[in-house]
Amino acid sequence: MSRQYDVIVVGAGNGGLAAGGITSKNGLSTLVLERHNIPGGSATSFRRGRFEFETSLHELAEVGPNPFEGTVRQLFDELGVKDVEWHFEENAFRVVLPGEDGFDVTLPTGEEAFAEEMERQVPGSRESVKAVFELGRHAIEALEYLSKGTPDPAVLQSEYADFMRISSHTTKEVLDALHMPKRAQDILVTYWCYLGAPADQLDFLYYALMLILYVQLRPAMPKMRSHEMSLALEKEIHEHGDEPVGRRLRDS
Ligand SMILES: Cc1cc2nc3c(=O)[nH]c(=O)nc-3n(C[C@H](O)[C@H](O)[C@H](O)COP(=O)(O)OP(=O)(O)OC[C@H]3O[C@@H](n4cnc5c(N)ncnc54)[C@H](O)[C@@H]3O)c2cc1C
Repeated sequence: MSRQYDVIVVGAGNGGLAAGGITSKNGLSTLVLERHNIPGGSATSFRRGRFEFETSLHELAEVGPNPFEGTVRQLFDELGVKDVEWHFEENAFRVVLPGEDGFDVTLPTGEEAFAEEMERQVPGSRESVKAVFELGRHAIEALEYLSKGTPDPAVLQSEYADFMRISSHTTKEVLDALHMPKRAQDILVTYWCYLGAPADQLDFLYYALMLILYVQLRPAMPKMRSHEMSLALEKEIHEHGDEPVGRRLRDS
């Protein structure tokens, strides 16, 4: 450890690799330290016999382009990471609820196709489903405005009124206000399990953003599983001339 670094990143999960990629790309000498013997963190897979297991990731939301680039793709482009071949899912999700009143529904990606299938499954749900996407889009616009700096409350009230209206409400409150039939709500809120809270506790804003990003950009996964992604990020850091990751801190 005789060298001096501008930046030392502890942990070579996707977060640490992306951070190290950005600092090294911008000319800061960077050391990424990892206590495990491979990079990737949670985004790791391993083989047992004929099978390969992902420890966590099974789909990513923000890749695209379909119809536009998501932030993961933008980050990879910015860092010059090219060695990831993406597989895109055709469908957003399948949800099975056993029992007499249950259902087995597969929802496609693409807003129109998604709303169409919801209408087929639950007649009378189309308009409220489209309204959810519309509110999600308004929220994205509002967040872009907020990310530019100090927001003007008057502008927020006048130009981002929908965002202000939905911000303090749960998913269930908004879906009820949109008069979405109960069965359609049960199907639509499937992604709640990613966010860890049921619809009556889950902030609508988070839910709508997640839904719109998966449905519009399609769920994606590197063809060679999550290691393809972490190894490509690691390679990029090497190519910027910085220190290898995978050094062990365990005994230090
Ligand atoms: C079961 C499960 C399923 C998931 N499914 C999805 C999904 O489908 N889609 C999705 O987008 N996200 C999913 N996620 C979330 C996603 O996997 C994580 O958000 C992401 O991988 C976290 O990356 P990270 O770099 O922040 O942290 P981590 O991946 O946890 O990386 C942290 C790294 O730091 C290292 N480290 C920690 N302390 C030290 C130390 N002192 N010295 C050296 N190294 C250290 C660790 O070994 C590790 O490699 C899932 C998560 C779980 C658990």
